[in-house]
Amino acid sequence: LDEISEWTIDTDVAIVGFGCAGAAAAIEATAAGADTLIIDRAGGPGGTSALSSGAIYLGGGTPIQRACGFEDSVEDMYTFLVAACGPDADEAKIAIYCGESVSQYQWLVERCGVEFLAEFCELPGIPPGEQALHYVGGENAYPFNQVARPAPRGHKPRTEGNAGWMLMDRLVGALGHDAARLFDTRVERLVVGRDGRVVGAVGRRYGREVTVRARRGVILTAGGFIANDRMLAQYMPLVVGCEKVGGDTDDGSGIRMAQAAGAAIKHIDAVDVTLMITPPLSRQFGILVNGQGQRFINEDTYFGRVGYAALYGQGGDVYLVVDQDSYGIDDSMPVVQPDIEGQVITRVSHVAGTARELEESAGFPVGSLEATLDLYNRHAQNGEDVTHHKSPEWVRPLVPPYGVIDYRRSSGVPYWSLTLGGLHTNVRGEVLNADGDAIPGLYAAGRTTSGIAAHGYCSGLSLGDGMFFGRRAGCAAAGSL
Ligand SMILES: Cc1cc2nc3c(=O)[nH]c(=O)nc-3n(C[C@H](O)[C@H](O)[C@H](O)COP(=O)(O)OP(=O)(O)OC[C@H]3O[C@@H](n4cnc5c(N)ncnc54)[C@H](O)[C@@H]3O)c2cc1C
Repeated sequence: LDEISEWTIDTDVAIVGFGCAGAAAAIEATAAGADTLIIDRAGGPGGTSALSSGAIYLGGGTPIQRACGFEDSVEDMYTFLVAACGPDADEAKIAIYCGESVSQYQWLVERCGVEFLAEFCELPGIPPGEQALHYVGGENAYPFNQVARPAPRGHKPRTEGNAGWMLMDRLVGALGHDAARLFDTRVERLVVGRDGRVVGAVGRRYGREVTVRARRGVILTAGGFIANDRMLAQYMPLVVGCEKVGGDTDDGSGIRMAQAAGAAIKHIDAVDVTLMITPPLSRQFGILVNGQGQRFINEDTYFGRVGYAALYGQGGDVYLVVDQDSYGIDDSMPVVQPDIEGQVITRVSHVAGTARELEESAGFPVGSLEATLDLYNRHAQNGEDVTHHKSPEWVRPLVPPYGVIDYRRSSGVPYWSLTLGGLHTNVRGEVLNADGDAIPGLYAAGRTTSGIAAHGYCSGLSLGDGMFFGRRAGCAAAGSL
């Protein structure tokens, strides 16, 4: 604070970053009567949120779930998320997120004007059409279907265009002219008073320094750090070189400026890795194996679990063994064939009439694939997957000739990665220091923070917890929580 000679701008609440978390924070801070300024380094609102597919994780019995005939409860949603988000997930955040999920849905619809079409899409991944509801985290697959009643919880806003863009458009519309905006301004550091309270921020706009005094607090909603290779190398070296889910602005600047002010970080090595073995859906009849020809996961689960298990458990050395029907195209299985149905080019690299020939030609240890296929096929005759518990609807014996699709990281198949960790915050959006105490005047939300997901992810949790805890941070900073 002693370094600041004059303030360029004076406000109650300064929000750094105008993506979904910043917009939600601004809506609540202004509603609570706080003078609010949103600062963004870009020329307008949007951030990675506007680039996204728009799926939001909501449940506990939303009107869309009920209209599509799915029963869900807060308890089932909570039990599932605690199991799916990793052994060290933040249960307090999950509890409040689930408990208020239906009212979060209503806020999106009634306060922000977001529309959802009450139709269910059975395809894995984001629905290609306008349907809202879809599975996004392996809720209906082993092991989660054993612990909680499965329900689809992905809610994609209705639009013919990009749902992430539409979501941001509605949030910006809901905010109206209630908050001041300062674009093209990159915030570089926080201003801390002698008593340790965060009282403002310093940024740079067209080469000039801008100093912002924030009487009630600063909220950091500046995105994640997938664009910062140094941070990736430090916290998740396996992800360096993987495909990035995020924009250039996800450079970790929000995390680093808060660390400089004494903030603690949490789950900073947590990452979502997507590896899609579908479409076509029939590929789920195949079996995923590692370089030793052994299975390591049920193929019908969420693609984020498949990707994480493949990269972190198997070093990205994985293959899908298919037969003609599970390969899923009409022509006879070729030696090299781009998959025209998906965006991902996946190829059958080897075909053989027996498992033994296949392992010899594709380079698996002798006997390995043969043993795996033998065991799998023996029980598949009864519709059972005794080792990895794939759902019976995807289990049947694979019939020769067999093919191998190369899903190795080194083959160029995308392993899409999204950082999940960041600043340690509590359920009020307050940023905590290493002792677990709130840093006065400092709040954060979205991918700048460690949110619901820890070492386990479900699509829709980033927009979901970004907006939910963004709202809470906005209320807390404005003094209305
Ligand atoms: C292709 C794609 C699809 C995705 N699909 C989904 C999905 O369906 N569901 C889901 O939940 N998630 C999805 N995600 C992830 C999700 O979009 C992000 O995790 C989420 O939008 C993060 O929101 P945020 O508000 O934290 O950050 P952002 O939306 O990125 O907003 C951060 C803002 O901060 C600004 N900023 C950054 N640093 C500074 C600074 N120093 N000074 C000033 N301003 C700064 C940026 O310009 C940006 O506008 C997807 C991502 C991508 C790329």
